[in-house]
Amino acid sequence: MLCVYLALSKKISIADLGAVIVLIGQFLQNFTNFINQINGIHGEALSVHSAMGYFGLLAEKREKTLHSVDTVNFKNVSYAYPEEETSAVKNISITLKKGETIAVVGKNGSGKSTLSKLVLGLINPTNGEIKIGNDPMCDVSYETLYKPATAVFQDYVHYAMSVKDNISISNCESPLKADDACQLLKNLGITFVDENSNITMQTELGVEFGGVDLFGGQWQQLAIARAAYREAKIIVLDEPSSALDPLREAELYDTFKKLCENKIGIIITHRLGMCMFADKVLVLDDGEMVEFGTKEELLKNNGIYAQMFQLQQGLYAE
Ligand code: ADP
Ligand code: MG
Repeated sequence: MLCVYLALSKKISIADLGAVIVLIGQFLQNFTNFINQINGIHGEALSVHSAMGYFGLLAEKREKTLHSVDTVNFKNVSYAYPEEETSAVKNISITLKKGETIAVVGKNGSGKSTLSKLVLGLINPTNGEIKIGNDPMCDVSYETLYKPATAVFQDYVHYAMSVKDNISISNCESPLKADDACQLLKNLGITFVDENSNITMQTELGVEFGGVDLFGGQWQQLAIARAAYREAKIIVLDEPSSALDPLREAELYDTFKKLCENKIGIIITHRLGMCMFADKVLVLDDGEMVEFGTKEELLKNNGIYAQMFQLQQGLYAE
């Protein structure tokens, strides 16, 4: 406005006015770019942080091999996420044994997934100690630590690969043969992959590269197949039926039971029906282990588990 006034009062020429308007435009554009770059730095820094974490893992010297995977022992274990003041898991002491399946229940945010990451060695306790057999988990090399473990995570990955590769990526050492793959899916009761349907073993999945997209429940069933394909001694199933319809879920109960057989099994679930085949139930509340025992013991205890049980039972009884 000042320049327009100056031009009108003939203190600057029209050419000057034009130049100033162009300069202001350029200045605003560069300034906006500059602000956007600052915004971007934050996002990039997060990626760099992840990458550095990954390289840190590679550089970390952990050379001990694992001797036995018969027990996982938590002694006063707490875990706080980086830069968080409160611990997501607090002072847990428990021993998980081979051949025993533990169901973990509790409200959202009570620390169930964090506990499962601790069992798998994906994160290290900020306090306390975890031992696998007699070996402190934090000394064991990642290679031997991860080898005997398998999991269906709550946020399972949708790999933009073929159906076959989505399953066999959990066990790269033994490529999946077509017959074995069909048998595996048959055992798991997964029927949407079929040579006569539009989704076969070779179908490329994921819209990123022009493949087929699946329903949430179908992706979750592939995640279950992926976990099942890996030979394991420890298995974590973190809400493995959250995206399935009730019929499919009921059909998979037997599968989950079989998957956990003879292993150290952890099954995280909101649905108490799923606790039926667990040997013991662990109730987390705000990161603390508030109840632990058999279903019968917990029902007698009349605590959180009993309340959840009665609530869910009431819904169905009505
Ligand atoms: P649950 O599986 O029982 O829902 P989680 O173990 O996912 O609970 O989370 C426990 C607590 O830790 C929650 O308060 C959650 O907000 C926090 N939390 C989970 N993941 C992270 C993370 N990556 N960074 C910071 N806080 C987290
Ligand atoms: Mg969770």
